[in-house]
Amino acid sequence: MHAIVVFASALIMKFGLLGWMSEKGIYYALDLGGTNFRVLRVQLGGQRSILETDVERQPIPQHLMTSTSEDLFDFIASSLKEFVEKEGDVSDTTLMRRRELGFTFSFPVKQTSVSTGILIKWTKGFGIEDTVGREVSECLEQAMARKGLNMRVAALVNDTVGTLALGHYHDPDTIAAVIIGTGTNACYLERTDAIIKCQGLLTTSGGMVVNMEWGNFWSSHLPRTSYDIELDADSPNPNDQGFEKMISGMYLGDIVRRVILRMSHEADIFGDALPKLSMPFILRTPLMAEMHEDDSPELTEVARILKDTLEIPDVPSKVRKLVVKVCDVVTRRAARLAAAGIVGILKKIGRDGSGGITGGRSRSDIKMKRTVVAIEGGLYTSYTMFREYLHEAMKEILGEEAAQHVTLMVTEDGSGVGAALLAATHSSDPVDNVQLL
Ligand code: ADP
Ligand code: MG
Repeated sequence: MHAIVVFASALIMKFGLLGWMSEKGIYYALDLGGTNFRVLRVQLGGQRSILETDVERQPIPQHLMTSTSEDLFDFIASSLKEFVEKEGDVSDTTLMRRRELGFTFSFPVKQTSVSTGILIKWTKGFGIEDTVGREVSECLEQAMARKGLNMRVAALVNDTVGTLALGHYHDPDTIAAVIIGTGTNACYLERTDAIIKCQGLLTTSGGMVVNMEWGNFWSSHLPRTSYDIELDADSPNPNDQGFEKMISGMYLGDIVRRVILRMSHEADIFGDALPKLSMPFILRTPLMAEMHEDDSPELTEVARILKDTLEIPDVPSKVRKLVVKVCDVVTRRAARLAAAGIVGILKKIGRDGSGGITGGRSRSDIKMKRTVVAIEGGLYTSYTMFREYLHEAMKEILGEEAAQHVTLMVTEDGSGVGAALLAATHSSDPVDNVQLL
């Protein structure tokens, strides 16, 4: 699996993460990129302190995911406006001032500056044709202007970069960030001179963040089954995001549904016609997790979900157990693939205890540095079995000794809070701004 770090589509982003930070004041962030959309307000007190964070989450209405650019961005701008208007106890000068916004937009983007980027393609069930090829900060700023909101996008990032920013803020040993939620992606800190695409480009820190877009990783070594192939073919983005479709929360429930549908056709395990079981995405991943983690002796939760969601009543105990087993296999595979990806990053930058992919030294003569990977996403944080399998696989691949030096640190809402921090760093306000790059 070590080949996992060779990503043809790796995007390179330039953010100074290494020199936080004396910024003060209120900064906002918008986090768009999956099931839920978040608006955040972060109050910075200078000297590396976050005084307060307010977060509001709401699901993105399904119809807006395939509507028009204007509809989606107007919806976001309206939610932001409502949120900003609830701003509490702040001085008049703060209210008059144009506010700085960090925009977390977690889809593949060609980054053109710290605050701008062009949408390459949608993923995770989104599909709004007229946004592809457009500058997304401009789409948002136009919508904010239509709503009469005086705000500027100071930093455009994706969720991995936001999470790395917050992780690094809390703990300078943080060298990578991983998202495992509706979709999956990762980024890591690389030496600029190790990035072939950036020959000759210098940053004062000598480091750069590489957004891997690993959801689109592909290799013939991936254990792809007929269920994966069919899920991909039926998706709105076939031949795309192959790694993501085997790992992330948007898809796991549907892989399970496809397996039990085939079982019911081939072995007649459920009896009569099953119209619900043929419906794509009817079995969402949180329900799959509930079935998987049902520890009642009779598996009553499994029976309830099969009855309520799939309209399959009276499932015998033996078949309930089989369903749990399917959930287990699908989750374990996903967690192990994600773990292999994380170890791939550590290996690439010489943090796996082996001296890096170019080093010839053996494990025993390497002193491992403490290494932190910031991690976020509902699948990792809410699905215990997934998390345990991921940890187990990391230990297995790294070895017990090397694994002790690697910490996975959950940064709650890091993707949004980190974007607000980056907005502060790249603020146009000369009073607050400290340029780090
Ligand atoms: P995003 O920011 O992409 O919307 P989140 O990090 O909020 O994603 O995670 C939401 C996703 O996490 C859901 O789409 C779901 O797939 C998965 N998820 C959330 N809760 C659970 C749970 N209890 N068990 C399994 N998966 C979950
Ligand atoms: Mg997210």
